[in-house]
Amino acid sequence: MATTTRTGQPFDRAALESLMRRRMFYTPSFEIYGGVSGLYDYGPPGCALQANIIDIWRKHFVLEEDMMEVDCTMLTPHEVLKTSGHVDKFADWMCKDPKTGEIFRADHLVEEVLESRLKGDKEARGQKVDVDEEDPKKKKKKVKEIKAVKLDDSVVHEYEEILAKIDNYNGEELGLLMTKYDIKNPATGGALLPPVAFNLMFQTSIGPSSNLPGYLRPETAQGQFLNFQKMLEFNQQSMPFASASIGKSFRNEISPRSGLLRVREFTMAEIEHYVDPEGGKKHPRFEEVKNVSLSLLNRETQLAGKTDVEAVPIGKAVETKLVDNETLGYFLVRIQQFLIKLGVDEKKLRFRQHMANEMAHYAADCWDAELLTSYGWIECVGCADRSAYDLTVHAKKTGAPLCVRETRKEPLRIEEWQIDLDKKKFGPKFKKDGKTVEAAIEALTQDMREKLFLDLKNDGKITVDVEGVANGKVELEKAIINIEKRTRVENVREYTPNVIEPSFGIGRILYSLIEHSYWTREGDEARGVISFPPMVAPTKVLLVPLSGVSDFKPLIKRMSHRLRALGVSNRVDDSSASIGKRYARNDELGTAFGITVDFQSVKDNTFTLRDRDSTKQVRASEDEICAAVQSLVDGTETWADIAGRLPKFEQQELE
Ligand code: AMP
Repeated sequence: MATTTRTGQPFDRAALESLMRRRMFYTPSFEIYGGVSGLYDYGPPGCALQANIIDIWRKHFVLEEDMMEVDCTMLTPHEVLKTSGHVDKFADWMCKDPKTGEIFRADHLVEEVLESRLKGDKEARGQKVDVDEEDPKKKKKKVKEIKAVKLDDSVVHEYEEILAKIDNYNGEELGLLMTKYDIKNPATGGALLPPVAFNLMFQTSIGPSSNLPGYLRPETAQGQFLNFQKMLEFNQQSMPFASASIGKSFRNEISPRSGLLRVREFTMAEIEHYVDPEGGKKHPRFEEVKNVSLSLLNRETQLAGKTDVEAVPIGKAVETKLVDNETLGYFLVRIQQFLIKLGVDEKKLRFRQHMANEMAHYAADCWDAELLTSYGWIECVGCADRSAYDLTVHAKKTGAPLCVRETRKEPLRIEEWQIDLDKKKFGPKFKKDGKTVEAAIEALTQDMREKLFLDLKNDGKITVDVEGVANGKVELEKAIINIEKRTRVENVREYTPNVIEPSFGIGRILYSLIEHSYWTREGDEARGVISFPPMVAPTKVLLVPLSGVSDFKPLIKRMSHRLRALGVSNRVDDSSASIGKRYARNDELGTAFGITVDFQSVKDNTFTLRDRDSTKQVRASEDEICAAVQSLVDGTETWADIAGRLPKFEQQELE
């Protein structure tokens, strides 16, 4: 997809990819063995960038929202993921070419084929066509492959509609689309088998006896749910509260692609915010954010085959029920604020609502924060209302009380039909079926109890359906059972909280942020600049001695130590390259500032400080420069503030 940089130039993905490799932001894992797709290693700038993103995440969410962080194991026994539904349902649809053995992810294949036909149509109509491919050789080949075939307007419309709701189809529907639109193996034209589900979890066995099957976790959420009771206790039984976790998750993607965007191992940062389902899931801080506008792409628009967004203040979106509740709305705003703090381009951010089929059946509402990249709109943060599903299934399976017990302010008086059994007679009568019969009686609804009360009064006996006993029915006489309407006083309220879950893919955010921050200077298009905000930049300061003169060395050393003591990361470049070159090299790493040591510095202990984005410089004393750098990195001052209060240094960057 053609995107532009912050200065309006066409975005050149091949140039950025080459920069990423050269500067070792990240690199394919096991490359000298040929690599494994979907697995990457981060180099020094990638690691520093990721650490800074995570640090800001912790401050923005864990600290600011007073969340409780946990770090749970990645190895998860089968039973846990069976209960959560992942063993049966955490799957994508794949289809196989029976001749070549090739495997395709069904939705991606449909998407690719229809997109390429639309491109062919554009070509036939003489319109400009974008080709999404990072490798220039492959790009050329792809351009050649586009067949200029004009489609009927109605077909174009149908394709566009399908593409707008591609995430909403299940396997059967994808199979139907493939038949209807004659979608085959693009390379060979061979027919494909119908889509089948492929579970995305990596299976393993825990311990030497291999009788404890397990999986590498596909999300960090389950560990948090299983610790719910202990967290609630830690929080002195007080609701609402949130837990948070940062760690690796694993998904055996069918076709990893688009660099860091679809990988098999990735860092996730997840929040599980527990809220009382009664009273509309209000949030105590919603007032603070209600006027913040978000770009929303709602599900009706998508179902109509469109992708138009609407800027809506979150207060209005919740009031009109477009966003289901205040807590969900509050987190959407906090997610937006976090992404903007990192430096993503607000114009390339939207929130897309899930369509019905896309959402898990238990979810009440779900929105993805998507960032526009050269690969299209990418889901970087999912924010779902998971209702009470997870806690309920785990409690049911284990018998653990994953619920909240709250003393009521006013005791609740409940009129209800109660049943008493005469145990002395009941036991001998039902013998081994006793427990089953008792459970069936316990489970009777209030309406049923009322009906049985009348039967007992009129006939002196009742018949109750009981699954698992002979005939499926039992008879109970007045002497064994008594049904009566009584008042029960309830002092404690017990409920299972609902969960709002913001889930962040750190790698996707990191890559999208790099795309949003990358640009080139006019006249120097061969070299990139990555304009990370100072707080996010992998290295904050580059220290450059004007030349190799030995007088500069102690000053550089002192400055470096001093900045480190302030927690400001810095690197020295004392190579023989010109100052301009050394700065340009570090612009590519996103290094926010440069400090030059020159002859003047030796004389009066003043230094120049250069801003990466504007290349403007100021000159001041060591103390002033250090203080300025610190406040720039903390975010308490901007470059405009510094440039406004420290003397300008007009001398051009020396080439
Ligand atoms: P999900 O649980 O599928 O909603 O995923 C939560 C977040 O994890 C997404 O918003 C993505 O940012 C990230 N994510 C999911 N799958 C992948 C993947 N294969 N590669 C990288 N990030 C992913």
